[in-house]
Amino acid sequence: MDFRLTESQQAFRATFRKFIDEVIVPAGYDVDHARDFPYANYKALAEVGYNGLGHEEAYGGSDADPIEVTLASEELARGCASTFLSVGASVGLFGAPLRAFGTEEQKSEIIPGLVSGDLVGAWALTEPHCGTDAAAMKTAARKTDRGWVLNGSKMFITNGHCADWIIVAARTSPEEGYAGISNFLVKKGTPGLSATEPLEKMGVRGSPTAGLFFEDCEVPHEMLLGTEGLGFVQAMKTLENGRIGMAAYGVGIAQAALDESLKYAKQREAFGRPIIKFQPVHFKIADMQTDVDAARTLMYRAAWLHSRGECPQSLFSAAKLFATEAAVRCTDRAVQIHGGYGYMAEYRVERLFRDARLGPIGEGTSEIQRRLIAQETLAQFA
Ligand SMILES: Cc1cc2nc3c(=O)[nH]c(=O)nc-3n(C[C@H](O)[C@H](O)[C@H](O)COP(=O)(O)OP(=O)(O)OC[C@H]3O[C@@H](n4cnc5c(N)ncnc54)[C@H](O)[C@@H]3O)c2cc1C
Repeated sequence: MDFRLTESQQAFRATFRKFIDEVIVPAGYDVDHARDFPYANYKALAEVGYNGLGHEEAYGGSDADPIEVTLASEELARGCASTFLSVGASVGLFGAPLRAFGTEEQKSEIIPGLVSGDLVGAWALTEPHCGTDAAAMKTAARKTDRGWVLNGSKMFITNGHCADWIIVAARTSPEEGYAGISNFLVKKGTPGLSATEPLEKMGVRGSPTAGLFFEDCEVPHEMLLGTEGLGFVQAMKTLENGRIGMAAYGVGIAQAALDESLKYAKQREAFGRPIIKFQPVHFKIADMQTDVDAARTLMYRAAWLHSRGECPQSLFSAAKLFATEAAVRCTDRAVQIHGGYGYMAEYRVERLFRDARLGPIGEGTSEIQRRLIAQETLAQFA
């Protein structure tokens, strides 16, 4: 057993970390306040190869190992959670199922644009009345001679209002429950597709979230993604494989909270000495470091197994669950260490605290991860 990264993994991380510190971190405050898709960061990330890490070389990607993808994702989340979320929704949540289930024509039309940062993608599963219980969706697609006609609405869709392409899950057979759902590629500007303005929200404000409407929105036959009726299976696969990414979201934010706290505690003075000299601050730092290490170890283990072709789902769920909840704990401690300044937008920990709160909700809530872990654990004792 060797827990160390290889020299090439360390070099890869160091290079990417430098880029994040020089380009992404300084833009964080403005991205949060602009409340728009972070186009400049998206382009800059494309230029350093981030957008193509998970994509095939034939489409301009680098088909990187899951460990490298995880190392880069953690650094991006540490640098800017909003950018992580919007870029992840485009090249991952949208790009991964396109890579896995798309036809040659679909992939060659869209993936090069994602990799180069010229096209933005979104993935629309959630509806106003159902998120966790996604199979209860009402959005319907009716088959016609010319293709499919979509009617319904979607909610909380990252990049929804600005995406060039959206993968939309819709019910193609009302009788068949899970097996009656299919996914469609819908292009921006298709008549019948409209979006709300970005919704006002607590955190990741630099990652726009919108509602979508489909009113007799017609898409051609060739825009069906993969096989009719397998849309729910595709969606669950997308979420399962995305869990290491969400763990990276948590680890990155937790690490940023720890770094900011150490910096602040060294320079802030109370009672004639830096607050880093006080034992209660030590304890918070120790708890944060322990959370970060434990979350990172779970995440690396999941990524390492994934790089060997294994997909232990309860481990992926545990990594997502622990890391995203650790980020909530760590950002809370970081705000406390900063005192009143921690409550001020000028200080980075205020944003980290708001951004962290999405982790236990998005892409499968903590409750659902616990349910999945318990199911697998209990099955071993059946
Ligand atoms: C900022 C943001 C970005 C998002 N981006 C996207 C996106 O790009 N695409 C997309 O499709 N969706 C997106 N979502 C939606 C997100 O995935 C859902 O919010 C999430 O899955 C939870 O669904 P819900 O909000 O409907 O909550 P609900 O499903 O209504 O859950 C409410 C509560 O009930 C609990 N609960 C529900 N069922 C069970 C159960 N069986 N057992 C135990 N507890 C249960 C949940 O854990 C939760 O605590 C985004 C959400 C946010 C906030």
